[in-house]
Amino acid sequence: MTIYQNLIAGEWVGTNATKNINPSDTNEVVGLYADGSAEDTKNAIAAAKAAFPAWSRSGIWERHVILKKAGDEIMARKDELGALLAREEGKTLPEAIGETIRASQIFEFFAGEALRLAGETMPSVRPNIGVEITRDPLGVIGIITPWNFPIAIPAWKIAPALCYGNTIVFKPAELVPACSWAIVDILHRAGLPKGVLNLVMGKGSVVGQAMLDSPDIAGITFTGSTGTGKRVATSSIEHNRKFQLEMGGKNPMVVLDDADLTVAVEAAANSGFFSTGQRCTASSRLIVTEGIHDKFVAALTEKLKTVVVDNAMKAGTHIGPVVDERQLKTDIDYIEIGKKEGAKLAFGGELLTRDTPGFYLQPTLFTEATNQMRISREEIFGPVVSVIRVKDYEEALATANDTPFGLSSGIATTSLKHATHFKRNAEAGMVMVNLPTAGVDFHVPFGGRKGSSYGPREQGKYAAEFYTTVKTSYTLA
Ligand code: NDP
Repeated sequence: MTIYQNLIAGEWVGTNATKNINPSDTNEVVGLYADGSAEDTKNAIAAAKAAFPAWSRSGIWERHVILKKAGDEIMARKDELGALLAREEGKTLPEAIGETIRASQIFEFFAGEALRLAGETMPSVRPNIGVEITRDPLGVIGIITPWNFPIAIPAWKIAPALCYGNTIVFKPAELVPACSWAIVDILHRAGLPKGVLNLVMGKGSVVGQAMLDSPDIAGITFTGSTGTGKRVATSSIEHNRKFQLEMGGKNPMVVLDDADLTVAVEAAANSGFFSTGQRCTASSRLIVTEGIHDKFVAALTEKLKTVVVDNAMKAGTHIGPVVDERQLKTDIDYIEIGKKEGAKLAFGGELLTRDTPGFYLQPTLFTEATNQMRISREEIFGPVVSVIRVKDYEEALATANDTPFGLSSGIATTSLKHATHFKRNAEAGMVMVNLPTAGVDFHVPFGGRKGSSYGPREQGKYAAEFYTTVKTSYTLA
């Protein structure tokens, strides 16, 4: 079998490899992908450092052309790349193709942003002096990504890093190297100079740690768990390095008595269970007022009965498998914890057997949960959702905000007054009204607050805040 190698200083290198396994069919090896070492990582950082002076001064048209070519190729290959994504991560083929289209759109957006780089000029408060405010690239950016969005998250970090003139060392999650390899191959063939984008696949504890330990990385952008995020933060402070963290969520969706029941059930089912609940923006707490509670639970349970859990590549599958055995064990452990804590298992909770061996779990709904239970406070990252009954809007809002996290927060209501109040008072980076808490646009800021995120927002023009540093120049006329 071919080994998909690492890209270091413009050369494909590496003979050690690990298997990329399909979670929908554990007999299938998606491919063999390089298992990089600390030495590889050091070489990649050195290559990115050497490539920085020339790339940081490259013309905006050159950057535009490369980013545009990448976006165009990803779009042209959306079905093939979507299938690769579905096979390595387990989200359904339509979801995977949708994510691939989004990756293409992100490259197209930043191809445009490269042509819109601008600064400000203004008079000084002193006579005969002019002031210019410009943005410089940071230097070498370390990119560390999780497994749940194998093409979109790499795209939304790589595209702005290149657009603003930075060079890159990129380490994808070990579970999903295939889409990352494909993006890097596309950008390499699109004409990126040697060393501008380096790919080091391998273990977080080896490759990721070597990146954290390097004094030559000027900024690290990280998406993943809270635990690893804290390591990124500590090491970055030690090296006086800029860092940006996107971490977990325990996103609430409030359902008020006056909600449109169909809208509320669709939004809850989508954001709680689609992508197997493995989205940082998934709603895992449904906070429902008394008057609609029983109707809502009954309708959501009916909906869950119709949901098809099966091989991600099969037509008609609504929910694919859990990503791997470790995550499946975590989900099952939390289902047991929920039962022991006294929540009522209203639906699901069982492992499923399908034609192909995989990590299939029923969507699982707990009712009679309280916001103090571990299933309501800790991120599970699987298709496990709890319903918390509350008296009124005020209690719903207080419960929604009573969490260490603050990524996304939703409300289902037909009341303009409550929707407006909720938008103002939800302690989250993103607020959704009558929409799932998951599912965001590519051209506007993405990120959270409290324990979910640290540093500037990602995506849209706000991405410049992280990938550039501001310079103020004074000139005597
Ligand atoms: P991890 O934190 O385990 O992994 C994220 C990345 O960090 C992986 O590439 C991993 O490598 C790497 N890593 C692991 N250890 C180290 C280390 N010591 N030094 C440097 N890098 C390291 O998270 P998961 O990939 O398991 O993702 C799931 C988590 O991510 C969930 O908690 C979820 O909420 C969160 N997430 C948050 C999002 C957001 O935007 N807020 C979006 C998506 C996910 P390896 O894979 O090789 O272990």
